[in-house]
Amino acid sequence: MSYTDGMLKDGALKGKTILVTGGGTGLGKSMGLYFLKLGANLIITSRKLDVLQNTAKEMEVSTGGKVLPLACDVREIDQVEKMWTDAVAHFGKVDVVLNNAAGNFISPTERLSSNAFNTVLDIVLKGTSNVTLTAGKYWIKEKQAGTFLNIVTTYAWTGSGYVVPSAAAKAGVLAMTRSLAVEWAKYKIRSNAIAPGPFPTEGAWSRLLPGDLVKKFDPAKKVPVGRVGDHQELANIAAYLVSDYSAYVNGEVITIDGGEWLMGAGEFNNLDAIPQEMWDMMEASRGKKA
Ligand code: NAP
Repeated sequence: MSYTDGMLKDGALKGKTILVTGGGTGLGKSMGLYFLKLGANLIITSRKLDVLQNTAKEMEVSTGGKVLPLACDVREIDQVEKMWTDAVAHFGKVDVVLNNAAGNFISPTERLSSNAFNTVLDIVLKGTSNVTLTAGKYWIKEKQAGTFLNIVTTYAWTGSGYVVPSAAAKAGVLAMTRSLAVEWAKYKIRSNAIAPGPFPTEGAWSRLLPGDLVKKFDPAKKVPVGRVGDHQELANIAAYLVSDYSAYVNGEVITIDGGEWLMGAGEFNNLDAIPQEMWDMMEASRGKKA
């Protein structure tokens, strides 16, 4: 067994229909693929229909499952409502929403126009609230159980310079996750989140570590376990949180970052840089004083 293996039993998501925003690329694609392997039906949605169609075809061929690609800009409530209606019409129901779509780029905050700032807020926070409201209202009206899983990030609670619109928006998504976990539990709707640390994806790497930055700021160096994440590790947690195995987990955020955010937080964690000989000297000098 290895962390690159699937964790849940075959058929663990059989009978579930799962909608993944941003499901044509990156982590959304990897999580969606694992849901399919576990027997779910899948809807993938984002702005680029050609990307979605290619991914859907690739996924169907490799798993034999059913994938519906639907174009939708999550910032536009009319498009979200149409996408939801089409998804329900196609599969008869949707049981799970994975809010994964996001936009982000690095910049000193004072260089951002209000338009640039708002674009990230709109995709991440407003996009998530548009999809959440649409699905939640439908589930409540139809008296149908539902599950939300929202992808945030560890700087949703620490904040982070140079990605301030993203930090503000993800903090909002986390607050929404915890709020609705309580408010909508009475309707049999659960809400949870995952906070990933660095996972290599074309989208995140090209926007957040463009060009040589990826060599200069090797993300693995900031992670105590000494590596970046493998997509299957994230897919395993996501599949658990959308499955019935996690029926009693509600309002939780699971961090999967190899200890990265804690490494930055602990005041003395950078003492890793002290060599053993220096520790020996310090110990010896303490011994003399005692
Ligand atoms: P990605 O491949 O760029 O995924 C982002 C997805 O969002 C794309 O499929 C994109 O598709 C979609 N999207 C963007 N704007 C949209 C809009 N207005 N409407 C609908 N869909 C839209 O990057 P990723 O790394 O896999 O990121 C996935 C999630 O993980 C994000 O929530 C990100 O914040 C989170 N995350 C990633 C990392 C990491 O290290 N990779 C770390 C922490 C958190 P279109 O362009 O076709 O719209």
